[in-house]
Amino acid sequence: MTGVEQSKSWFERAASATPGGVNSPVRAFAAVGGTPRFMVRGEGPHLWDADGNRYVDLVSSWGPMILGHAHPDVVGAARDAASSGLSFGTPTTGEVELAEEIIRRVGPVEQVRLVNSGTEATMSAIRLARGFTGRAKIIKFAGCYHGHVDALLAQAGSGVATLGLPTSPGVTGAQAADTIVLPYNDIEAVRKSFAENPDSVAAVITEAAAGNMGAVAPREGFNAALRELAHENGALLIMDEVMTGFRVSAAGWYGLDGVAGDLYTFGKVMSGGLPAAAFGGRADVMAKLAPSGPVYQAGTLSGNPVAVAAGLATLRAADENVYRALDANARRLGDLFGRALTAEGVPHTVAYAGNLVSVFFTEQPVHDYAGAAAAETWRFAPFFHALLDGGVYAPPSAFEAWFVNAAMDDAAFEVIETALKQAARAAA
Ligand code: PLP
Repeated sequence: MTGVEQSKSWFERAASATPGGVNSPVRAFAAVGGTPRFMVRGEGPHLWDADGNRYVDLVSSWGPMILGHAHPDVVGAARDAASSGLSFGTPTTGEVELAEEIIRRVGPVEQVRLVNSGTEATMSAIRLARGFTGRAKIIKFAGCYHGHVDALLAQAGSGVATLGLPTSPGVTGAQAADTIVLPYNDIEAVRKSFAENPDSVAAVITEAAAGNMGAVAPREGFNAALRELAHENGALLIMDEVMTGFRVSAAGWYGLDGVAGDLYTFGKVMSGGLPAAAFGGRADVMAKLAPSGPVYQAGTLSGNPVAVAAGLATLRAADENVYRALDANARRLGDLFGRALTAEGVPHTVAYAGNLVSVFFTEQPVHDYAGAAAAETWRFAPFFHALLDGGVYAPPSAFEAWFVNAAMDDAAFEVIETALKQAARAAA
């Protein structure tokens, strides 16, 4: 580490130009303290900050960079697309190819609409579910984050949990009134809620596997039971695969458990690090969208040709070897967590949801947000900073998944292993 003077100075400038100095709260290191690193370059498994420090990156831009940074195919595709024009506001051929690629990979998705962020995708999906069913209420789960959609900012995990916020000022009672929040992985709570709210629930929205309270996999049968209960009660099941989509397998979490949602939301990997996202699903539901139906949804930059090119190049490069590498790297990271923390006698559980990994500072298995919050989260900040000092960029919050990429090599793991020894000592 050659010091962090440049990052410090940029953070001071940023703090006067931008609230908290950042454009997304978790980047401010609010929960861990210290100076957020201003990154200037990424290549393969590494990031470099403004002071020239190199880090093995275990955030991967919060998920998208499954191939590592600046993958030549993806950069080349984006460069080619950019040189032909940045945005047309018309249909383009690339957006059709990207929609077809998503449909080909995820069986239950018959049609897709492209948007600009995961937040837009979930916002549009719940509007569509309400328009399709003629009902108002939405069931969501505590600790699941679906972007900063007003109606979904209730016990929302991720940055909201990191900052200790139950919800957000600015969300009116009316906007939240139709949101029912239940404990994750508790199917009896869902059954009871449907019984208490007859004929009024439009949709259940769930992360296909939760990654925003740390990695918390659905219990065996939970997603299937959600689908059954939703359908018995005339509601839709919205599978939020913004985080898991095209990361945990070629077909996302659907590729692992085969439970079909009625609607899906995607983002992150499908646009290769540029801003694009999507929602899609059953053709009869999607047909209700304007212009074929009455549910309005639109976007000036939706289907942006550069973002679409980067997304297509990422998905095309993500072959079996890439998914095998992601799975292997996640297990290797989890094993290193386990070994280092056990050696220092730090209570911990290494949790997986596919190839999403987390470490919780508790011996108790974590199945829901209450479990994640009950861990000894005070151990996280020293753990995080020892990793950072050792050249490892980890998620700066105890309530996030860790994202491996396929570019990680033995040298990257050696850096992680060495840094973890210090980090485990710091967490003890
Ligand atoms: N849904 C899930 C499961 C997410 O993890 C996220 C972001 O992390 C979102 C939705 C929101 O996506 P975006 O940040 O692109 O708005």
